[in-house]
This record gives sequence, structure tokens and C-alpha cells, in this order.
Amino acid sequence: MFTRIKGTQDFLDLTLFNFIIDQTKKHLHAYHFTEIATPLVEQSALFKRSLGTETDVVSKEMFIIAPRTQDDEEMCLRPEATAAMVRAFVENNVESTPWQVFTWGPMFRYERPQKGRYRQFHQVSMEVIGAPSILYDVQFIKMLDRFFHERLGINNYALVLNFLGCSADRVAYEEQLKKFLDRAEGICDLCKARKDKNILRIFDCKNEACQALYQKAPVITDALCQQCADEWAQLKNTLELLSVSFVHRPTLVRGLDYYTKTVFEFVSHQLGAQNAFCAGGRYDQLVKHIGGKQDQPSLGAAIGIERLMLVLELVKDKLALPQVQPLHVIIPLSTAQQALALFVADELQAHDLCAQVLLDGASIKSMMRKANKMGAKLCLVLGEDEQRSHEVTVKNMVTGHEERIAQTDLVQYLQG
Ligand SMILES: [Zn+2]
Ligand SMILES: [Zn+2]
Repeated sequence: MFTRIKGTQDFLDLTLFNFIIDQTKKHLHAYHFTEIATPLVEQSALFKRSLGTETDVVSKEMFIIAPRTQDDEEMCLRPEATAAMVRAFVENNVESTPWQVFTWGPMFRYERPQKGRYRQFHQVSMEVIGAPSILYDVQFIKMLDRFFHERLGINNYALVLNFLGCSADRVAYEEQLKKFLDRAEGICDLCKARKDKNILRIFDCKNEACQALYQKAPVITDALCQQCADEWAQLKNTLELLSVSFVHRPTLVRGLDYYTKTVFEFVSHQLGAQNAFCAGGRYDQLVKHIGGKQDQPSLGAAIGIERLMLVLELVKDKLALPQVQPLHVIIPLSTAQQALALFVADELQAHDLCAQVLLDGASIKSMMRKANKMGAKLCLVLGEDEQRSHEVTVKNMVTGHEERIAQTDLVQYLQG
């Protein structure tokens, strides 16, 4: 027997998944975002360049497709969409900014699958490219907050926020942090390695002793240049003005190289250790870094659909999930009525009425039982008698009520 690849899943009921996508589209259109699509495969080099070679994603988790000939470039299944969307912005010479776009679909990580972590997972990725003002961040975060809170009715989450400053601030801060770590005793080996390679990642360490130590570490928001300090203050003040509650967490750095200034996560305790269901931030240098002619300060975020589905489990009953269309099961009593049954079904389906014919039933009793299991609202029975009189016996599966309807009136009857 074949089994699915570890870390992937079959979705046999997409109701909630599709609801999230539909609501996302509706919500983002109100904020004038355009849906785009980029390929699932990209050059590996794109992600190495943008995310940074010392990040876990690039160093351990890339889903690489090995080149088959010498001329092939190394490809990979996209681990995230931001880099790909920025690539699309640059490659297609998009001139009108801010370019407000979103996409959704599968992302891939070739890591050892664990609880809540998939090799193929799904994200909505939203980007605002060419948006220097920090007030775009406020509007963007407010848009997400309104989406989770009002459109999806989620209440049990927190917005965690930090500000990493410009690249000069980051360099200066990393220097400070390095001095702090040089003096510190008892940091774990992973943190020692990260100190030299990707120092901000020390804050993601799971070791409790390290975490206790980092409570005393210098704080990045204390090391900002004047302009960044002003922007950080403006960001916080304007979020408050728009009634967005947030928690400042100085150790939130996000793992990727491209973030500058604002970084944020929407987290839910329902999700356990990997508790963010949406995360993002500003990436002021990325566009130029991957080949844009000029700097285009930008920002973006991704929503993890599987994680959002877990968060929504609790409020699912209150969601306005789309109603399933009433099912009409058509039951020909013998082979002589089967063609007629197809004809009747065809007429219903042409009028967008959901209909299915039972063609392999043994007895009326077993077919009725089957229709019941399928969740039929009405059964349309065709026997010799109905065939002769050009009628259908319509049986209501809830009330048991039966009625004879002329075949020519059937669509109108069912629509009424
Ligand atoms: Zn700065
Ligand atoms: Zn550590």
C-alpha cells in the first residue's frame, strides 16, 4: 500500500480551508490588494540570497531539486513566498508603488516533520512593496487584526511586536550583543554557534538557562538611531490610536535575514510551542538586495493556514461557513428507469440543483438507507408507475412526506 509522504496531509474536507481563503480574498480586496501567483519552483539561489545562508530554512530545510544536467540551475520548492513576490516585482519591472499584492498556496520545507510542522503547508502571503512610511505598517497590522478579530471572530490571540531598527542600528546592536555574550557564562553550544553566524537567533533558543540569561541582554529598541526611535514611537502610538493592542517583546527577532525595523507575530496559546499563526515585518533592503535598481522599503506577512485552522476549531460553530447545497437523490426502481433517472438528474443539474442517481441499488429499502447516509434532503423515486404517468415520487427524508410531481414541473417545484 502506498502512504502519503511524511509531513504532508490529505484534506478530505476543505470547508474550513476554503472559508479562510474566501474570507482572506474578500478582506484584502477591501484594502486594495491584488491577487497574484508565482511558480512553486524557484532558483535555490533566490532564497539563499534573501533569507540568508545561516538561517535554518536555507541551511537545513530547503526542498532542493537536484540538477540533472550541468546546465540546470539548482531549483527548490518555495519555502516561503515573500522572496518570490519580490523577485516577481523586480523581474516584471513593476513601476506603480506601493504594490499591494497577495498570494496563497503550498510552501515546502524538507525538515523532519513534527507536531504542527509540515513538509507541505499552506500560507497566505501579503506584501506591500515600495512603502517607506512606517504608517503603512500600522495600516497593515490593523488590517490583519481586524481580519482575525472581526471577520474570523478569534479573540484568544496576542499581537507581539518588536522593532529591529535600520541596518546600521542592527550592526551596532549585534556588536553590543556580542560583547554581552562574550562576558556571559553558560550559554549552550547552539547559541555559541549562532553568536558568530546569526547572532539575533540566540533569542530563539529553547534552553531555559540561556533564556534566563537573555532577560538581562541589551535590548534592541534601546539601541536605535534617532530616526528609527521616532518611527518606533510613531508605530506604537498610532497602533494605540487605532485600538490595536500589542505586547512589546524585545526578544522577537524573526529568523530571517531580510527583516528591518518592524517585526510582529500573532500568537495563540492554543498552538503550543510553535504558537504563531501569522508573522511578518518590514524588509527595507530586500528589493535592491535581490536585484532591484533602487531600494524599495517594503513590508509583508504570512498567515499559516493549517495553524489558523487549529485556532478556528474553537469558534468554528460561530462561523458563517457556507451551507451545503441540499442533495436530491434519484432512485430508479429497476434498470428500466435508469435512463430516465439520468435524464431527470441532467435537468436538475442544468438548473444548479445538486442531484445524484443511485445506479447500483438492490432494493428500494437499501437505496433509501443509502440516500439517508448520503444526507439527502429529498429522494426522487422513479418506478414503472411514475415512468408511465411522467411523474416522480418526491419523498422528504426529514418528514417522510411523499408527493407525486409531474416531471415537467419538477425543477420549478424544487426551486420553490
Ligand atoms: Zn536606524
Ligand atoms: Zn542557547
